[in-house]
Amino acid sequence: MSDPSGPSDLLDRAAALDAADPLAACRDLFVPAGAGAEEVVAYLDGNSLGRPLRATADRLADLVRHDWGTRLIRSWDEQWMELPLRLGDRLGAVCLGAAPGQTVVADSTTVLLYKLLRAAVAASGPDRPEIVLDTENFPTDRYVAQGVAAETGARLVWVEPEPEAGVTPEQVAAAVGPRTGVVLLSHVAYKSAWLADLPAITRIAHEAGAMVLWDLCHSAGAVPVGLDEHGVDLAVGCSYKFLNGGPGAPAFAYVAARHQDRLRQPITGWMGHAEPFVMGPDYRAGGGMRGWISGTPPVLGMVGIEDTVDLIAEVGPAAVRAKGSALGRFVIEAVDEVLAVHGVRIASPRADDRRGAHVTLAHPRSRDLCAQLWRDGIVPDYREPDGIRLGLSPLSTSYAEAARALLRIEELLASES
Ligand SMILES: *Cc1c(COP(=O)(O)O)cnc(C)c1O
Repeated sequence: MSDPSGPSDLLDRAAALDAADPLAACRDLFVPAGAGAEEVVAYLDGNSLGRPLRATADRLADLVRHDWGTRLIRSWDEQWMELPLRLGDRLGAVCLGAAPGQTVVADSTTVLLYKLLRAAVAASGPDRPEIVLDTENFPTDRYVAQGVAAETGARLVWVEPEPEAGVTPEQVAAAVGPRTGVVLLSHVAYKSAWLADLPAITRIAHEAGAMVLWDLCHSAGAVPVGLDEHGVDLAVGCSYKFLNGGPGAPAFAYVAARHQDRLRQPITGWMGHAEPFVMGPDYRAGGGMRGWISGTPPVLGMVGIEDTVDLIAEVGPAAVRAKGSALGRFVIEAVDEVLAVHGVRIASPRADDRRGAHVTLAHPRSRDLCAQLWRDGIVPDYREPDGIRLGLSPLSTSYAEAARALLRIEELLASES
């Protein structure tokens, strides 16, 4: 008789869940993760760098040979000038709940955060000089806000959420007031995976007369957002995590249609000009999201985004979200069963509707454990101070991968004690 919570049982349950997974076939669409000594036995870092689709490898090669190699500079007119707006609309429709004309693909998240936050602070005016943000947000969000504050004299009002949870509507309500210009938050917290209550927090900010800027880096491609439905003002996000755009692939920005004429972004480059090729003496912003572009669009990095957005459209964003939640539930239950006795804690929300698509484990030896897991071909990531973050990419991660990682952690901790 096998131990009901033992290793073989966990692998059996993972196999059964993989067999019943409606998205299981998606895994074969990705470039295989190594072979032989190079083999990755569990990739749990798709929330830092998503795996490439096979289609992307082929389309990148085609782009080099045909669109770039043969059509050469004619491709700018034929397709590339429109690509940041066309792909933005598609991404907006499939993943963000955004009607056309409000999303553009450009720059990096960091640069777009600066552009949107700077524009929002300017539009808020001198009577609303405060930016509300939180101490647990991703470093670049905090650093960009500090830079904007230094540049403009804006004052930063810090919310301090529980590190293993995240910002609540009550905390935002207590922090906003008649002097708040902008509330800057992540939808899914990069460490804990806390899924903020975007509808409630957006409403609270609006009731105080402020705008909200949501960072969607850990939502886009994993958790549906509903930007239009909830009246969000501004949003940014990256494309190399759950959207599998590849290293350095560009970010996206959303500016609600009602703000587009009122807000002015600060990096007034030629590609955002109403008529870039007139090359006139003065800057004149292009209409709509065109005006949020600054320099030459990063075309190569957009190929992978489009392939993943197509795949999400095909299988349905709700199925993607359901798989991410189910993987998280599987991990949490397995940790309770096999790792809790070794002192491993869940440092993420347990409720599916408050958790994005990763689960963070906390243990004093996390740093060493992570290093050993990488040597074993199991790839999560380590986050200060004591977290092992298990990224659960709904399209590419199997239950078996999660089980292998947890069982290896169990072995490593058992051999210590
Ligand atoms: C990954 C991530 C970023 C990354 O910013 P880059 O400019 O792409 O390096 C920003 N914010 C959050 C919340 C992230 O998770």
